[in-house]
Amino acid sequence: MRVLYVEDEKFLAEAVKHNLEKEKIDCDLALDGEDGLNKAIDEIYDVVILDVMLPKISGIDILRRMRERKISTPVIMLSALSEVEDKVNGLDAGADDYLAKPFKTAELVARIKALMRRPAVIKSEKVRYLNLIYDVNEKSLNGVSLTGKEAGIIHELMKTPGKIVKKDFLLNKVWGGEAFGEDNYIEVYVSRLRRVLKKLGSKAEINSVRGLGYKIVEA
Ligand code: CA
Repeated sequence: MRVLYVEDEKFLAEAVKHNLEKEKIDCDLALDGEDGLNKAIDEIYDVVILDVMLPKISGIDILRRMRERKISTPVIMLSALSEVEDKVNGLDAGADDYLAKPFKTAELVARIKALMRRPAVIKSEKVRYLNLIYDVNEKSLNGVSLTGKEAGIIHELMKTPGKIVKKDFLLNKVWGGEAFGEDNYIEVYVSRLRRVLKKLGSKAEINSVRGLGYKIVEA
């Protein structure tokens, strides 16, 4: 396991590195934001730990730039200010966890290990049909953000274009265990998707197959 720790308090940085390595976690240090950003972009880490207040580039800006570049490495934000606003900013920018300073190394190790137990994020998975591109991670269609259920439906339809996707299958797949009595709602989400397709000037349309389900076809 290899982590990057971006921290401008040299003494703290080295103490944490020492303690992490006792736990068999390799730790690279960066002592300012610029070095931290370069390392986060160029190297491959299991987890990146970012102090918020850093010289040159703040921890939150490093995180934003990582996410802009689609680097989905889990990030733990650290801040001396355990203020809510700080935490919210960090989480908004795409942090996976947040730890207030001062912290115990054992706590940091526990957080790192918890993040490592999460299933790996699949990098940039896209499904294409005609002029449509559905981004699985972003849940977006040609850049337009969809709600969870809209995204689930279009994803299933685009996986097998021209083929009927059964209503029951969609309910099961998209609604999961909460599907009871939601049958009529599918139509609502499909209508919304049709509007999105129209707005995108898509060459594809969603057809209803009475009593069975839906399919996406060339218009
Ligand atoms: Ca600092």
